[in-house]
Amino acid sequence: MGLMSLTAVELGKKIKEGSVSVRDAALASLESIKKSEDLLHSFVTVLDEDAILARAAEVQEKIDRGELTRPLAGVPVAIKDNMCTEGVLTTCSSKILANFKPVYTAEAVRNLEKAGAVMIGKTNMDEFAMGSTTETSAYGITRNPHNTEHVPGGSSGGSCAAVAAEQCPYALGSDTGGSIRQPSSFCGVTGLKPTYGTVSRYGLIAYGSSLDQIGPVAKDVTDCAAILETISSYDEKDSTSVKRDDLDFTSGLVNNVEGMRIGIPKEYIGEGLDPQVRDAVLNAAGILAKRGAVVEEFDLSLVEYAIPAYYIIASAEASSNLARFDGVKYGYRTKQYEGLHNMYKKTRSEGFGAEVKRRIMLGSYVLSSGYYDAYYLKALRTKALIKEAFDRAFETYDVILGPAAPTTAPKIGESLSDPIQMYLGDIYTVSVNLAGLPSICIPCGKDDKGLPVGLQLIGNCFEEKTIIRAAYTFECSAEMR
Ligand code: GLN
Repeated sequence: MGLMSLTAVELGKKIKEGSVSVRDAALASLESIKKSEDLLHSFVTVLDEDAILARAAEVQEKIDRGELTRPLAGVPVAIKDNMCTEGVLTTCSSKILANFKPVYTAEAVRNLEKAGAVMIGKTNMDEFAMGSTTETSAYGITRNPHNTEHVPGGSSGGSCAAVAAEQCPYALGSDTGGSIRQPSSFCGVTGLKPTYGTVSRYGLIAYGSSLDQIGPVAKDVTDCAAILETISSYDEKDSTSVKRDDLDFTSGLVNNVEGMRIGIPKEYIGEGLDPQVRDAVLNAAGILAKRGAVVEEFDLSLVEYAIPAYYIIASAEASSNLARFDGVKYGYRTKQYEGLHNMYKKTRSEGFGAEVKRRIMLGSYVLSSGYYDAYYLKALRTKALIKEAFDRAFETYDVILGPAAPTTAPKIGESLSDPIQMYLGDIYTVSVNLAGLPSICIPCGKDDKGLPVGLQLIGNCFEEKTIIRAAYTFECSAEMR
């Protein structure tokens, strides 16, 4: 068994014991990337081998001196390419950032580095995290390791494919409307979106600032808990960062759901859901019920309004956030132009892809003076109602269970031609972001094509440990790995 088939925590243990060196772990990751990268294309950038080995030596020394003792010390990691990494190309998979080397590192990545992580590379994604397939990247598509004719999902498709293909033990992704959970579902890996404000957004290139959260992508629940524990922190540099004194997420790794109340929204298992996905998800619910959870169906209202509200709010925020890419301070600038206005126009026309332009136009429209009340304000009100609906549900239930996506991974090329249809695929994930809730996606089966199905477990705000407990119990019972 190769080193890359270990989980991050297992590999970290071996490194600490001294049976595996940090250098060998890094080399194993590079070797695996070399073997499969031409086919999969999970990465935009793989770091230079010398730089990786120098970092590995530095970490090894600190481990040997007893200065690094946490579970992930020495373990290689891949980072989604929308997190700033000092001196390392950070493109957001966009042409407009083709030459962007940040002068600082995102706080979540810094937290990993402080714990002794060894960064291997930056993963491919939908351009500016807008998309559900990793096909909108300016640097080519990523393929699903389970079947390379299919997409890995998106937008954190590179991170999820890299973990699924064992190119590295774990990765970071970001989730604005499902971008950790949906590709985790498609790639058969475990991904967690934390409560809004738990992981600092400092250095995460903003898409929808009120929705964005960084989170772990890994092989199992134990890894997710350990990674989340490492990356979360209160950060003064992020005005929405929350001070929490319950960041010991690994204490949620308890194999017991006796008496836990689990609700399944009827709307999540009805029309539009692939029957094979439904069967796998309901089977998982049955396993949790057998372990002593009280599982029942209930009505979660407003589900049909989540997609329109999300796409209005996310696009509005994106149109504002992306105004900074103008060819002046950093990033791509058009080669030939006449005057400042023409430079802006040509830079942005050439630098952004079609999906990003669509969102900027939609966002500018819903924020324009004549339409602000009719669209943007209405969407904000809907968001508040969705939060209320979840608040009511969590009076009765500890966890909300459902699928992460209505289907398994579609074929490459099937989704982009009909953006509305693609947006509808986000039905089970976006309300979680609108309400700021934590949610985990874990593998719960496969369809008849051998493509993975993901189970989504949603918790109330700050209840990561509850969903970690439910997911861990399911994992222990189902023996998925
Ligand atoms: N598919 C959604 C979108 O395109 C979600 C993206 C995300 O979570 N970053 O907006």
